[in-house]
Amino acid sequence: MRILITNDDGIRAPGLRALVEVAREFGEVKVVAPDHERSACGHALTMREPLRMKPFPWDGIEAWEVSGVPTDCVNLGRHAAFDDRVDLLLSGINAGPNLGFDITYSGTVGGAMEGTINGIRSIAVSMALFVDGAPIHWETSQAWLREHLGALIAAPLRPLTFLNVNVPSIALPGLRGHRVTVMGQRVYADRVESREDPWGRTYFWQGGSIVEQGELPGTDVDAINQGYVSITPITLDWTDQTGLTDLRRAVGAGA
Ligand code: MN
Repeated sequence: MRILITNDDGIRAPGLRALVEVAREFGEVKVVAPDHERSACGHALTMREPLRMKPFPWDGIEAWEVSGVPTDCVNLGRHAAFDDRVDLLLSGINAGPNLGFDITYSGTVGGAMEGTINGIRSIAVSMALFVDGAPIHWETSQAWLREHLGALIAAPLRPLTFLNVNVPSIALPGLRGHRVTVMGQRVYADRVESREDPWGRTYFWQGGSIVEQGELPGTDVDAINQGYVSITPITLDWTDQTGLTDLRRAVGAGA
């Protein structure tokens, strides 16, 4: 199996290394990843500047650093590294959760989206770590993936669908198992923070804290909060099929 791996934390990120270690046990791995951290770039695509792809030293593996975002890495990886023959795209392991609406900002998920659009089985993997500076339990993700990645690869998936996997950043004995979930809804408060630079000019930071809404059971957020790995099938068919008839009637349009 030919496995292309990317991430959005950059080619030097420990999570990428952790993912490669496991993926090597499942097939031929090549790494194509951004040359520096590009978190929260979503499904962006570099179009107005050239992309550079440089070999990156990696023990026993072909690896490339790219002057772009995960979407670029997937495309360059497919064409330049794998000659258009990729069986599996893995993106991660991200150093932070990708739950609820956050997946629309995520470069980790963006990489999986690009793989999916190109007909490749794609899986985004993230560590649900909620406290900056707390230890990240990569070994928990690795142990879980060693046991279950084969099932994720073989699982039936509808076209245009990928898997968004989040692993709680806890020690392995605390892991309660895994759940197949639906995408939750995370909303942030105090999203924009206004500050002043040393010269008295205003600048802004975007961050904010999550508004806890008593997550509905069955969501990705709920599974993580309870100590389970969350596996969410995400579809790129964004049309609201259930709303088509009502909308057609409302605007006087046909199919
Ligand atoms: Mn990231």
